[in-house]
Amino acid sequence: MTRKQFLKMCGILGICVPFELSISSCSKDDTMKAHFNGKVIIIGAGAGGLSSGYLLQQQGIDFEILEASSSYGGRMKINTDFADFPIPLGAEWLETGTNIFQDIVNDPSVQVNVETIPDAPDRKFVNSSWFNFFETYIVPSISNNIVYNTIVESIDFSGDQVIVTTQNEQRTADKVIVSVPLKILQDGDISFIPSLPQDKLDAINNTTIWEGFKAFIECATNFYKDGFEYQITPASDGQKIYYDAALGQNTTKNILGLFVVGKPALVYISLSGNALRDFILNELNVIFSNQATPNYVKHITQNWNDEPFIKAGYMTDDADWRTVRELGRSVAEKVYFAGGAYTNGENWVSVHTAAQSAKEAIQEIVN
Ligand SMILES: Cc1cc2nc3c(=O)[nH]c(=O)nc-3n(C[C@H](O)[C@H](O)[C@H](O)COP(=O)(O)OP(=O)(O)OC[C@H]3O[C@@H](n4cnc5c(N)ncnc54)[C@H](O)[C@@H]3O)c2cc1C
Repeated sequence: MTRKQFLKMCGILGICVPFELSISSCSKDDTMKAHFNGKVIIIGAGAGGLSSGYLLQQQGIDFEILEASSSYGGRMKINTDFADFPIPLGAEWLETGTNIFQDIVNDPSVQVNVETIPDAPDRKFVNSSWFNFFETYIVPSISNNIVYNTIVESIDFSGDQVIVTTQNEQRTADKVIVSVPLKILQDGDISFIPSLPQDKLDAINNTTIWEGFKAFIECATNFYKDGFEYQITPASDGQKIYYDAALGQNTTKNILGLFVVGKPALVYISLSGNALRDFILNELNVIFSNQATPNYVKHITQNWNDEPFIKAGYMTDDADWRTVRELGRSVAEKVYFAGGAYTNGENWVSVHTAAQSAKEAIQEIVN
């Protein structure tokens, strides 16, 4: 069973995925008690890195987040000037129940208020996004601990202290949490001293990572209604769907979205400018009886393969769960992993699984 089939089955059966139970079973006030009082360096300020820092902050543990780019959020990035609601350039849907917000906040005294479209199992935010949730509830308490424009190049965990080397300096800590995209590790952009264990290297290097591309097209009318999903065969090659991106939003705009990952994304990431726009319009004209070109107003695109510190979409839905579990395992009680690709193998690649993996990494560190 693939990850998507598993989620769909949970939705049909009304099951709200087990990781929610495990994430909430450890709130700020109960089982997560810090037996560790050293320093932690977190690498990457995406959902996994931010969640890790937030949980360490709750425990009063010293930490800093080193982020290669000039902003936080990673693949939760949004565009705020294309429409009158946030456009999610990466993570868009809520692939679990809404209890997850309170679970991530991990503090019953904080009242979480997030409006979503009740469209189980894949829900969406209303005039908001995953990025906005993190911006409101997670980042404020840790923003002073994020160091931007800091590219980690190597992690030396051979001694008592871990030495993290960036493009211009060295920093030390007792433990490190790696929360960069899997493609960064696959490409060897960060070297490890000593080398990571062979099982970990095999899991990193033998896992398929899908290409990732999204586009948003403002249209004069909603000629596309329910959108169009392509049947990709084999399913392990990826996914591609045109959909109503303004569905459920408080907006007067007609915004058509394109979500495409894996092999079907290759053609989009190979094009740019007018050639890319015309390719998309021609494709839409074929599906929707030549209505795309006359209704076209403007568009934006997001090529995730082109982002220097992301370099891809995300790990395939069809990965083997044992491989994913290996990706999530810590090494030598010094190097921990948190993020969409580094989970316990029950689920992977969504924002909420990145947050869940952070909770597991912090539990391991503090116990
Ligand atoms: C097209 C697309 C659609 C998606 N749709 C959904 C969805 O609908 N719902 C959902 O839940 N999820 C979705 N996802 C997946 C979700 O976005 C990711 O799983 C999640 O955001 C990953 O978080 P992360 O912290 O693991 O990694 P990232 O968000 O990638 O963060 C990693 C961070 O590490 C930084 N970094 C990289 N290299 C270095 C270095 N050497 N030194 C320091 N920092 C470094 C990067 O700049 C980045 O900020 C989608 C992803 C894509 C690409």
